[in-house]
Amino acid sequence: MKLLITGSAGFVGSHLAERFLSEGHQVIGVDNYLSGQRRNTELLRAYPNFTFVEADVSLGLPEVEGQLDWVLHFASPASPPHYQEHPIATLMVGAQGTQNSLELAKQHNAGFLLASTSEVYGDPLVHPQPESYWGHVNPNGVRSCYDEAKRYAEAITMAYHRQHGVNTRIIRIFNTYGPRMRADDGRVVTNFVHQALRGEALTIYGDGSQTRSFQFVSDLVEGIVRLMNAPKSSDVHNPVNLGNPDEFTMLDFAKQVRDTINPSLEIVHGPAAHDDPRQRKPDISRADALLGWAPRVKLTEGLAQTIAAFRQDQEVAQTPRAEADWATT
Ligand code: NAD
Ligand code: UDP
Repeated sequence: MKLLITGSAGFVGSHLAERFLSEGHQVIGVDNYLSGQRRNTELLRAYPNFTFVEADVSLGLPEVEGQLDWVLHFASPASPPHYQEHPIATLMVGAQGTQNSLELAKQHNAGFLLASTSEVYGDPLVHPQPESYWGHVNPNGVRSCYDEAKRYAEAITMAYHRQHGVNTRIIRIFNTYGPRMRADDGRVVTNFVHQALRGEALTIYGDGSQTRSFQFVSDLVEGIVRLMNAPKSSDVHNPVNLGNPDEFTMLDFAKQVRDTINPSLEIVHGPAAHDDPRQRKPDISRADALLGWAPRVKLTEGLAQTIAAFRQDQEVAQTPRAEADWATT
């Protein structure tokens, strides 16, 4: 197959690209490095069947020669500090970036997969969250640039399916972690692990009673591949949650990271983040029924792999010669 992946220099996009490249498919990666890393592109360049185009997909996608089989739209900042620093670019990549990607899929009669998010549920009043829940979102708060962009992205994806017959898929990704997350991305897994590795206190925003459920990246990639391969039916186009239902308070999660790396460290509390969802846990019964999918990697196992990778990242970052690898723009 020939696939185009937007956001290929990002955390999830680079793992997804590598999965297809390692199976012998051709991958065209597109990224503008808004929140990605050049070193992910370099890593993918080790595969001869990888090509890369540096471009802002909100402005347009590159022309692709020959038949394209899939467009996988993963471009978008995903970390709250990143999208809150770039609210307009985040809205644009969810809106124009999604439409441009859909147009390319339509032009090639290719499949299209949208990386949506559990953030479409906002601060959910239903727990755990099934796909049938319409959500509880602040439409103009600090997270709205991301939440509403993804809600619009889902709407335009379904519109292209209904009006133009594009073969679309929508996944709602719940908090995912693993190697290749940017050390400064500000998400909780990266913050806690890097803080603990540096021997610093772990910073909890608020009282730490808010919950999240963490999925290891390999489980997500497997779910995506299964959804792409699922037999076509009217149901396959509707959103599918992909996440790990093991739920933790941020206080318990901080303790687990601390105790794994250095039990003598302090855990400190700072101000709560604005509009921070109080609870989040996927209902994955639809993914189970449709794809026979459930996450396999336990937090202890995924965390161990992530800690090892982040430890190596810190060592690389400390060598002056590696500075260029860390450049993001
Ligand atoms: P990431 O920030 O690591 O990757 C996103 C990539 O998109 C980056 O490389 C960035 O440079 C690129 N990008 C952003 N705007 C662009 C534009 N206009 N043109 C071209 N490239 C652009 O984030 P991630 O965690 O890998 O997330 C990838 C996708 O998955 C996002 O769409 C995100 O919303 C979704 N998602 C991720 C999670 C998660 O927990 N990781 C959860 C829910 C949804
Ligand atoms: N969080 C925290 N300390 C940090 C970073 C995040 O307590 O250093 C909390 C954050 O307030 C939220 C949860 O951890 O309740 C998950 O945050 P993250 O930014 O990883 O992703 P979100 O699920 O909010 O998009």
